[in-house]
Amino acid sequence: MQPTVHYNMGGVPCNFHGEVVAPRGGDPDAVVPGLMAVGEAACVSVHGANRLGSNSLLDLVVFGRQAARRCAELQRPGMRHAPLPGDAGELAVSRLDRLRNAQGSRPTAAIRLEMQKIMQMDAAVFRTGESLEEGARKLAQTFESFADVRVSDRSLIWNTDLVETMELENLLLQATATIQSAANRTESRGAHAREDFPQRDDEHCLRHTLVWVEGPGRVRFDYRPVHLNTLTDEVQTIPPKARTY
Ligand SMILES: Cc1cc2nc3c(=O)[nH]c(=O)nc-3n(C[C@H](O)[C@H](O)[C@H](O)COP(=O)(O)OP(=O)(O)OC[C@H]3O[C@@H](n4cnc5c(N)ncnc54)[C@H](O)[C@@H]3O)c2cc1C
Repeated sequence: MQPTVHYNMGGVPCNFHGEVVAPRGGDPDAVVPGLMAVGEAACVSVHGANRLGSNSLLDLVVFGRQAARRCAELQRPGMRHAPLPGDAGELAVSRLDRLRNAQGSRPTAAIRLEMQKIMQMDAAVFRTGESLEEGARKLAQTFESFADVRVSDRSLIWNTDLVETMELENLLLQATATIQSAANRTESRGAHAREDFPQRDDEHCLRHTLVWVEGPGRVRFDYRPVHLNTLTDEVQTIPPKARTY
């Protein structure tokens, strides 16, 4: 299993240039030099605007272009990649081997169905602290049971059994991040509708959640401020407002 997953609403935190941000030393905007993400994998602090009709594709075109421009600024002809450690790639290969040879008793499809039901029942659009806590508890059990997964196909060609099992492990990490973050966010905002906290709470919750999944049911949180201002004075800053229908 991957030791941790760094997850943010929508993906890894990024700045407007597509550079991945990893807060450190009191700087919430510190970047990981050379690492970039755009599109579905990224969270560019556009606070949910990329979730509205057709803006996701716009998001990846705009920030994809910006990331390319940033690369052009950073790269110089003849620049070399930093030397990789001798064991680079070993984690990925050992993960593949571990799952390809998994000889447990639980089929991938059974674990996946259990996870889907938990997320649909307890982390639905309208949720409460009670449903989320209950879901998080059940999900941790389902995630634990992944240690007992069974993969029947050991081949290395078109092995959909293996692919689905790897995807399931990713999904268990993502589901854990999603449900635990939702339980931790005691307000309603955008698509996160808490029946026990129907109001948006800018005082305590106007921030990005960063979550590290350290194992079944085990998470660690950190936060980043939301950038509320545009980068130019050509466009007026639009303050957040209540989502109404
Ligand atoms: C049901 C649905 C409807 C949507 N409708 C709209 C809409 O109407 N308008 C809109 O703007 N947006 C819509 N979106 C969102 C939009 O489709 C996505 O935001 C966009 O496709 C993301 O593009 P991407 O290139 O960032 O990621 P993806 O399209 O997810 O591409 C990532 C690629 O990476 C590959 N990959 C993953 N892991 C690895 C690996 N380890 N090695 C190599 N390759 C890998 C994947 O196979 C995939 O091809 C919708 C999304 C969904 C799910």
